[in-house]
Amino acid sequence: MKEMIVVNFEEIFLKGDNRRFFVRQLKKNLKEKLADFGRLLEIERVRGGSIFIRVREPLDASAWEKIKERLRFTPGITQFYLVRSVAPEPEIITEAAVDYARGKIEDKPDFRVTVKRVDKHKPFTSRELAARVGAALVETYGTKVNLENPSWTLHVKVRPEQAFIYADVVQGVGGLPVGSSGKAYVLLSGGIDSPVAAYKAAVRGLALTALHFHSVPKTSPRSIDKVKDLARTLARIHGPMDVYFIPVLEIQQAIAERTDSKLRLILLRRFFLKIAERLGEDEGIRAVVTGDSLGQVASQTLENMHAIQAVTDRLVLRPLLAEDKKSVIRTAREIGTYDISIRPHDDACALFTPKRPETRANLSYVESQWARLDADSLINRALEKIERFRALPS
Ligand code: ATP
Ligand code: MG
Repeated sequence: MKEMIVVNFEEIFLKGDNRRFFVRQLKKNLKEKLADFGRLLEIERVRGGSIFIRVREPLDASAWEKIKERLRFTPGITQFYLVRSVAPEPEIITEAAVDYARGKIEDKPDFRVTVKRVDKHKPFTSRELAARVGAALVETYGTKVNLENPSWTLHVKVRPEQAFIYADVVQGVGGLPVGSSGKAYVLLSGGIDSPVAAYKAAVRGLALTALHFHSVPKTSPRSIDKVKDLARTLARIHGPMDVYFIPVLEIQQAIAERTDSKLRLILLRRFFLKIAERLGEDEGIRAVVTGDSLGQVASQTLENMHAIQAVTDRLVLRPLLAEDKKSVIRTAREIGTYDISIRPHDDACALFTPKRPETRANLSYVESQWARLDADSLINRALEKIERFRALPS
């Protein structure tokens, strides 16, 4: 008997080169995610839409829980399960199934056995095998069979050289492995939305570096800790992630002194993108993810978004554009960022917010106000004071 973790990915969409990239990246990410299990786990092979991870010693419940937590949120995985692998003989399968069910079936009111034969040449049908295993379970544990709506299902998958026995099929987040779609910056504020936007971008296969703009010492350094905590939480899903902390107080002061107060927010956001553009020249990163959602606040209008992004030719991605706040909050809770995001903090943007911010910016007016600022030297000075932090999974 052998234990294995079977990890499934959706292979229907994957052809040729795409598939090679996908599998290579997913294997690499899996190795990284499971690194602290050392020699206990080993990626054995890839076949069809599955990656087989060999488990060298039987896993105790707490180790399996920990692995489950990691795999559940590994982009690219659609589902996974821990299997016992035995010889594909009915007696051996039945005996192994009875043993496997111990500790799992006793408290369940009913169950069913689902058999799938990958190897159609075996001298028994799926139904015969299911009946035999089911009968043995009833006899041993006294539990009832319920084919329609069972509270527990034991799966048997019969392959040519082995049979897999498993129960708990865990759903993953699907999507694409981080890194398989390229790199992007994510503008990470301390709010609820941008961590969710980062998560969605990671699930589409983007490898992310976070940029956070702050006004320390005018705002409290606690907001930096908050962003670090958010990044560590995101790192559980994304894998280790760099965060750059960029001071913008001087930029905000220049904006406040020299431009129309209605445009403060828009001009500051243009600096965010311009700084991302500058950093990306060295790092080869040409896309920026934000947590913008259309109409969520009065300033998130098409006109404003356009006046902001017109400062750069970089691709600005807004995964939350059409999402309502409720669904964003639900996702934030699922990924564990919500409780961190609602901790009070002072925002770099709030600091200079005018009484009546522009809601329908006019691009040529914004550009004329922008021209009053010496953007290049302001950006250079901000970049000199940039601080880097590597967020490891918390
Ligand atoms: P969030 O909850 O992500 O802060 P929001 O609904 O509060 O979003 P805004 O504050 O208008 O919206 O910000 C829009 C987007 O701009 C954010 O989602 C984020 O991507 C980016 N952003 C805002 N402030 C900052 C900041 N201080 N540092 C980095 N990015 C920021
Ligand atoms: Mg915000």
